Amino acid sequence: MRLVLLGAPGSGKGTQAARLKEHLQVPHISTGDLLRAEVAAGSPLGLQAKEVMARGDLVSDEILLGMLKDRFSRDDTRNGFILDGYPRNLAQAAALDDLLASLGQKFDAAVQLTVDNEQIVERLAGRAKAEGRADDNPESVRKRLQVYDQQTAPVVEFYRQHGQLTVVDGVGPLDAVFTRIIEAIAPEKAVG
Ligand code: ADP
Repeated sequence: MRLVLLGAPGSGKGTQAARLKEHLQVPHISTGDLLRAEVAAGSPLGLQAKEVMARGDLVSDEILLGMLKDRFSRDDTRNGFILDGYPRNLAQAAALDDLLASLGQKFDAAVQLTVDNEQIVERLAGRAKAEGRADDNPESVRKRLQVYDQQTAPVVEFYRQHGQLTVVDGVGPLDAVFTRIIEAIAPEKAVG
């Protein structure tokens, strides 16, 4: 199963991706996690990305594509993946199609987790307290939501127009959201 997870910051992509990974036995590729690992390692790429991420802007398409190509060159992605945090703009959506085409692959579904803005802000405030992520301060959250509306929402529309979009309600208990996703994309793998 090859999945692309879409949704605003705080929509639960990361949480659900971790569960999907176990359930579907495919790797979870989170561009946010890959970037945070570079920042933590203090690599040249990490040094470049650090400030951009902290203010809630998008890291350059070039850096992301390089990182993604590198990740997709590993064997474990051959039989599937859950891509979380990419694509975030239309250029990245085109780059993803090209990358997958070069590997002889196509994704099976783009799943959008929908959560209303008010809840998003509440969830991110909660996460800021729990995890202390550098980009969960109010200013950066505002910026990330704005970037989502301006740059990532068009990706959702693009996939909708191409009949590749599956919309899943992201509100409710984690288990309920997870069940909705599985029922939408792989009903044969639903449990219970
Ligand atoms: P969230 O979606 O909750 O904001 P992520 O962990 O997915 O968090 O991403 C954190 C930050 O990493 C983003 O705000 C952005 O700066 C950077 N980032 C992640 N994925 C991408 C991407 N595909 N393109 C550009 N920047 C990205």
